[in-house]
Amino acid sequence: MTPLTPEDIARLQKCLDSHRRKANKLGVPADDVRVDDLLAKSLRDPDGNHLCKTCGCVLCFNPDAVREDNKAHIGHMHHLSGKARPSPLEPITHPGHVLSNIDLQCKLCNETDNHQTVAPCNAKARKMTPVKGRPNSGSIRSRGKLPTKADKARWLASKGG
Ligand SMILES: [Zn+2]
Repeated sequence: MTPLTPEDIARLQKCLDSHRRKANKLGVPADDVRVDDLLAKSLRDPDGNHLCKTCGCVLCFNPDAVREDNKAHIGHMHHLSGKARPSPLEPITHPGHVLSNIDLQCKLCNETDNHQTVAPCNAKARKMTPVKGRPNSGSIRSRGKLPTKADKARWLASKGG
């Protein structure tokens, strides 16, 4: 395995910190979770590579690999969304940003999860949700050819001028 660089660690810590602030805003528990603790509890293969908690793929920690599907992300098993605590009057049932609710996930699993739980009723989000095994499913299908001048003339003629 390639050992994580200080930059990799710093990137993940930044992610954790921003999630902690989000949890704070939502009014759910917000621990100062450290990268080391997260790495220590994450799944590993026999070679010591960190694995995605959801699909078990080997994670990529390179900060330059922005578009890689297996790029390491911070995932919350119970998601940090507006639904985490619908009203401040209600008791807190969401675990929040705590180590037991956090795991390493690949980019694809993280996005799929988030879209399915955070925006299940949002048609656009559903359309954009990447689906495992269908690499091109995230793209918007082209709507066919744009109408030509001839099409427009035909349309105007059908309207009777
Ligand atoms: Zn995964």
